[in-house]
Amino acid sequence: MEKTIKAGVRRNGADHLRTNQYRVKRVHNETHDTFTLYLESINGTREFGFEAGQFNMLYVYGIGEIPISISGDPSRPEFLVHTTRAVGTVTKAMRELKRGDVVGIRGPYGASWPLDSLEGRDVVFIAGGIGLAPLRPAMYHVLSRRELYGKVVLLYGTRTPIDILFRKELETWKSRFDLDVYVTVDRAIGNWRGYVGVVTLLVSRAPYTPRDTVSLVCGPEIMMRYSIMELEKTRREP
Ligand SMILES: Cc1cc2nc3c(=O)[nH]c(=O)nc-3n(C[C@H](O)[C@H](O)[C@H](O)COP(=O)(O)OP(=O)(O)OC[C@H]3O[C@@H](n4cnc5c(N)ncnc54)[C@H](O)[C@@H]3O)c2cc1C
Repeated sequence: MEKTIKAGVRRNGADHLRTNQYRVKRVHNETHDTFTLYLESINGTREFGFEAGQFNMLYVYGIGEIPISISGDPSRPEFLVHTTRAVGTVTKAMRELKRGDVVGIRGPYGASWPLDSLEGRDVVFIAGGIGLAPLRPAMYHVLSRRELYGKVVLLYGTRTPIDILFRKELETWKSRFDLDVYVTVDRAIGNWRGYVGVVTLLVSRAPYTPRDTVSLVCGPEIMMRYSIMELEKTRREP
């Protein structure tokens, strides 16, 4: 925690306890209920340094403040990227934001994924639903230093095919020879030809060496619990 907060202060040159103003540069609708905001600083701090896994407090003026993970690339601090599912008061107000609107940002907060200590090992990312957003910075980190890691696998589960996040990026990742990507849906609709079932079913199919593998898991509580149980069955370190 100590290390993380210091990193935020050092890279931002700003007090992480203060709310800074950011302007919406771009809004991208990922799915019917999930959107990504690309934000840029308007009050002097040009770059927003963070470590993969951290989150910010986002303030929608006049509505409220909520925690949202940073979903962008840690090596591209010129934009702050947040991917949010609209579920309630603040997130629904956030979905109405347009290019040029201003939000308040406090952060970054929270522990980061210990990615440097995973070098040399196989890494299995397991994401459920919106959980892919907090894991994405860690994916960027690992893929930008691909030669430092062993096998890299992403297991991703959503409710239905229309809930798949970052679809184009997933397709790009799927086409790489140095990365295994498996996507499953709870319920197949449309012309879905992929896996059907909960994401934990993919754990036993993924090609990696249990002894040398570390898993990064993010998603709903129940999904994380079952993922860990599944990993423990095969003696992988959660
Ligand atoms: C560290 C951290 C990181 C997070 N990162 C992300 C992220 O990257 N992306 C993301 O999308 N979320 C993330 N979240 C979750 C996000 O913070 C919450 O979704 C958000 O705070 C909800 O705020 P809200 O005001 O929109 O919803 P609220 O209005 O507080 O509603 C929350 C829940 O209550 C339900 N609810 C609301 N009103 C009613 C009602 N009248 N009756 C019954 N149920 C109701 C909603 O359906 C919703 O499920 C994160 C949370 C934490 C703690």
